[in-house]
Amino acid sequence: MTLSISKRVRCLMRPAAAALEPYDAAFSQAHINLSANENDYPMPAAAREAIDAAIARTPTNRYPIAMADELREAIAAWHGVEKDQVIVGNGGDELLFNLILAFGGTDRPLLVLAPTFSVYELYAKLLETPVIRLWRDPDTFGVDEDRAVEAAGRANLIIVTTPNNPTGNLSSPEFVARLCDACPGIVLADEAYIEFAEKGSSSEGLLVAHDNLSVLRTLSKAYQFAGGRLGYALASADVIAALAAVRQPYSVSVLAQVAALAVIERRFEFQHSIDRIRQERQRTLLALASLSDMGLRVWPSSANFLLVRLPHAAEARVRLRDEFSILVRDLSDTPGLTDCLRITVGRPDENDAVIGAITTILRGESQ
Ligand code: PMP
Repeated sequence: MTLSISKRVRCLMRPAAAALEPYDAAFSQAHINLSANENDYPMPAAAREAIDAAIARTPTNRYPIAMADELREAIAAWHGVEKDQVIVGNGGDELLFNLILAFGGTDRPLLVLAPTFSVYELYAKLLETPVIRLWRDPDTFGVDEDRAVEAAGRANLIIVTTPNNPTGNLSSPEFVARLCDACPGIVLADEAYIEFAEKGSSSEGLLVAHDNLSVLRTLSKAYQFAGGRLGYALASADVIAALAAVRQPYSVSVLAQVAALAVIERRFEFQHSIDRIRQERQRTLLALASLSDMGLRVWPSSANFLLVRLPHAAEARVRLRDEFSILVRDLSDTPGLTDCLRITVGRPDENDAVIGAITTILRGESQ
């Protein structure tokens, strides 16, 4: 059943909120779920055991330590920063909300490099923050860096998503540094998918020299913790304090804190599935690219998903779901992404299934 807001209740809502609809991830049961960029490889057994043991010994009667000190300590050691340069959130989503809550508002524009992750604009709308949209190249989805640097002067907040969701492009640390220099406000490098990119792609090394930079990371993707909900941001202590001022004190539960700590302590064990996904990304890319004579286009990606364009994409997505029990994300209504679908890179059998199903659909055959 889809949620809907009655007219009566809508009248009672804050106007910026009344303009929204309940979030619908268009989720339905299917055998193969390649719609949300999760990592569905088997979790390393030792990591799972460590999570279970940590949860089993954690009492739940007391409130969590609000700033999650032990977890922040571990994240700080991992990234070579101080503990007061780290904040954790109930998923990266919460930190994105808090960032716009702290640094947005009517006279504080947010600059985004569109098309990009839709949640930024959703939160901006809710928090009455004007959005400057700089469009990526419609063919390659590359960014006109000089124009972005020029626009940066007019923004109070910039979000650069690298790799970008849903186009898969990376933005270089050199470009992020230029944005930091040009922007009088805060620059967030959203690196939710950075573990799937080439080494050296992260902007975290810029933190030392740029006190207006923040780097967002999540355990949801590479580290198989989407259900556990744990994201974090690195920034100057000053910016972290601003985020701490607006956060809900107990948003990250004790169970999430101890489980996330277990994941982080065993983070190297996740490298195997990250490498497998990178290999599968290349194999799936080539297989899909071979369908170009039937009108399919696929873009290279540094993340764990591929963006494809194909004739009648919205219809193809419904057929993938109903005839093949495969879920992918339909982006065909998104400006700049006409007839595009986003497909998570899954396990080899899942990727084979989606390649086979798309081939069948493009040939005009049925299951
Ligand atoms: N940033 C980007 C670009 C994302 O795609 C996502 C998840 N879809 C997030 C941040 C937030 O992820 P989470 O809340 O699961 O940490």
